[in-house]
Amino acid sequence: MLLNIISSQHHLTPIQLHQRTSRSKGESRLSLVALATMAFYWGRCFACRGSTNQIVSFSRYFSPIQYRSQSTAVHRLTLQQYRLREELERDHNQCRQAFLNGKFAIFNGNKPYMTRTDRGNLLMTKVNYQDVQKLVNMDTDNYEVPNFVFLGLHDNRPFFAIDVSQCSSDILPSPNEIEISQPGKFYSCMRSLTLIEHSENSLFLKALSLIHFHKTISYCSRCGNKTYRYFSGSRRYCMNCRVTFYPQVSPVVAALVIRDGECLLARQPSFPEGLYSGLAGFCEPGESLEECARREVAEEIGVLSETVEFQGTQGWTLGIGDTSLMIGCYVTVDSSAEININGLELEDAKWFTRQDVKKLIACTPKPIAINGLPVFIPPPVAIAHQLLSDWANKC
Ligand SMILES: [Zn+2]
Repeated sequence: MLLNIISSQHHLTPIQLHQRTSRSKGESRLSLVALATMAFYWGRCFACRGSTNQIVSFSRYFSPIQYRSQSTAVHRLTLQQYRLREELERDHNQCRQAFLNGKFAIFNGNKPYMTRTDRGNLLMTKVNYQDVQKLVNMDTDNYEVPNFVFLGLHDNRPFFAIDVSQCSSDILPSPNEIEISQPGKFYSCMRSLTLIEHSENSLFLKALSLIHFHKTISYCSRCGNKTYRYFSGSRRYCMNCRVTFYPQVSPVVAALVIRDGECLLARQPSFPEGLYSGLAGFCEPGESLEECARREVAEEIGVLSETVEFQGTQGWTLGIGDTSLMIGCYVTVDSSAEININGLELEDAKWFTRQDVKKLIACTPKPIAINGLPVFIPPPVAIAHQLLSDWANKC
């Protein structure tokens, strides 16, 4: 996966651009991407509609991104399946009829019912309509069928999630006493996130987010009237205000600060003892991802960034029904820059060599002694770990 952001430049020749983006080591790749992009967009300037001999500044209005992913470890559908998924989401009646042929994941609030695989990972247990009827009244003629959300398609069948935490006590004495045909048990949200098969990660997070969404956006924040399920549970709607409410996804930039042969890892006071990780922060309204990365680095370690190179993205949650989009990037800083950590956010920050990081990756999740201190890094499922792993293996 490759995702590059090119520094904002306007009306520069390729040579000028190259000079500006080659101020330090490690920027040659950025320069090449910048040159290629500028060459492709040779023509009239978007900003001033100037001469055709000028180089178009693609970044006059936004931070340009090149994104290329050939990962096979993501949830993918055929074109026909994408179309069917969209139809089911848009047509509530068709979606309800799809219950009969559908599969259902079961959640007890934010705890999913999961099955262990032979490899020790977790998959959402998928039950059929008959099993779900034992848990909750899924009357297909009832427009406001409670607790279910449409997730998409799985194995070419409509896939839903159902929250049993709000089932009436006469139907279900206790969520832990569920009797269904497939084996499994309820796992905590964070344990599930750590162990779930990667191909189900996005569907799992969507279920978690939508279940939380329907619990918390029951009433309109403008007029106080009740809101209604919309688009098969993917939205809610206030008929009085004619306003649609969407589940929230918060973008978070995860930045690994690097300089010649070293990367910076830091720890927050709330981290478990010995845990060091990269920097991270929520994107502010109106901010581009590049601006967010530069601001976070400046705020947390008191250093100005030179370049920002984006590496990949990942859905994530803190376990309370929230959904974040983690955007991983490398931020280069001047080798002579002095770190000045923000004591309100960080407790410590240290530079680690590639050899240190390789040892930490090999021993994850166990701590190892580095300069006399026990240190460990986030698990492989976290984007912070992937950033470290990719960086350590570059040489
Ligand atoms: Zn309203």
